[in-house]
Amino acid sequence: MQSAEFELKKFLSAQKLKYTAERGEVFREIVRSEGRFDADELLQKLQKDHKRVSRATVYRALDLFVKLGVLRRVCMRDNTSLFESILDWKPNGYLVCMRCGQTQEFEVAGTLDGHLRKVASERGFRPQNHSIELFGYCNECQRASDDRYIL
Ligand SMILES: [Zn+2]
Repeated sequence: MQSAEFELKKFLSAQKLKYTAERGEVFREIVRSEGRFDADELLQKLQKDHKRVSRATVYRALDLFVKLGVLRRVCMRDNTSLFESILDWKPNGYLVCMRCGQTQEFEVAGTLDGHLRKVASERGFRPQNHSIELFGYCNECQRASDDRYIL
């Protein structure tokens, strides 16, 4: 598993944004949080750990992380908003051989991953996970086979 800093740097550099110590502190706290949290809760936790981050910094960082797709903002009925991490989205793709049953994993990334998120959000659907399976024939089966029905 990669460190939180590494993940954050990856997200930031994709948007040509800088990694700062404050953003790092906020991010680490988010990674440690479970479930939904509000901005002030997060700020209190950071202050308890004697981190030097201001309220404005925390709010700005949370807005940024929402834009980067790290966090989701959940609007509550009383007009407050809570945040939840969406880092547990695991890119799962599988190539399944219909002949020998061998399954190879691959990472669903880039435009396909973005497309899936877009489809879900357009329908107000909150995805927790996903899996894509491609069915076909693996290299070995294609080579070994003299079965004209499969090729
Ligand atoms: Zn096979």
